[in-house]
Amino acid sequence: MILSLSNGIFSKLRLDENFAAVKQLGFQSIEFNMKSIKKEHDTDVYREQKALVASGLNCLTLHSAVLHVKDPIEIHQAVYYGKISLECARALRTSLVTIHSNVSKKLPRDIRERCLREIFGEIKPFAKQLGIKLSLENLSFNSTGFGKNVEQLEEVLGIIDPNCEMGITFDFCHALETKVVDNLLKSYGRRVWNVHMANKAHQPFTKETPELTAFLTKLDSFGYQGPITLELEHKTSLKEIAKSKTLFEKLLKKF
Ligand SMILES: [Zn+2]
Repeated sequence: MILSLSNGIFSKLRLDENFAAVKQLGFQSIEFNMKSIKKEHDTDVYREQKALVASGLNCLTLHSAVLHVKDPIEIHQAVYYGKISLECARALRTSLVTIHSNVSKKLPRDIRERCLREIFGEIKPFAKQLGIKLSLENLSFNSTGFGKNVEQLEEVLGIIDPNCEMGITFDFCHALETKVVDNLLKSYGRRVWNVHMANKAHQPFTKETPELTAFLTKLDSFGYQGPITLELEHKTSLKEIAKSKTLFEKLLKKF
C-alpha cells in the first residue's frame, strides 16, 4: 500500500504553495483534488501541470470536480466538471480518477437514472479515450449525493457500469459514519482501487484503533496494494497531519 495525501486540505493556498506544503510534510505522492483550483478554466491544466512538475511530487490519483445534480438542467455542468477533471488528470499523468455518482439523493429514481445515463454516457467514453480509469466513491449519509451504501452503489453501478469496468474508492471515514464498513468490504473488497483514509468527520488517525487495524488487515487479505490517501478536514493542523503520517508509515510497513 502506498501513502498519499489529498491536497484538498490546502485548497485555500495558491497551487505552488499548496504543493510546497505537501512537500514540507514529506509526502511524495498526492491525490490532486479539483477543489484546489478556484475556478476551472480549460487552459489552466497547463498551469497545474507546470506546478506539479516543479514540485517533483507524484500525482497518484485525482479527485474529480463533482456536482450532485438536483435537476436534469444541471447535467451539462456535471459533464463539464467531469471532462475538465479528466483533462487535468491527463495533464498530471495519472490514470485513476475518483468520481461521485454526480446525482442528488433527493432525485426520484426515474430522474436519477436518466441523469446517470446522460452524465456517464459522456464521461465514460471520454475517460476511455484518454486511457483513464474511473473509481466510484462511497458517500457519507450526510452527503447531498446518492451512493452511501451497497444498495445505492449497486443501483448506480448497474446503470453506469454494467460490465464492471470501474473500481471503488473506499472512503473509510464515510463508511464509519454510515456504519457500512463490513458490508462495503464484503461486496467490493476485491474492487477497491483507492482508499480515502480518515476517522469520522475527516479527523486524522493518530493512534491505531481496532476498526483501523481490522480494515487494513481485510484490505491486505484482498491483495490491495493501492493508495492510502489521507483525506483530512480543512482545519487539521500541520502537527496532526505529521502525526498521522508517522502512524501510517509505521502501519503500512506491515502491509
Ligand atoms: Zn473521500
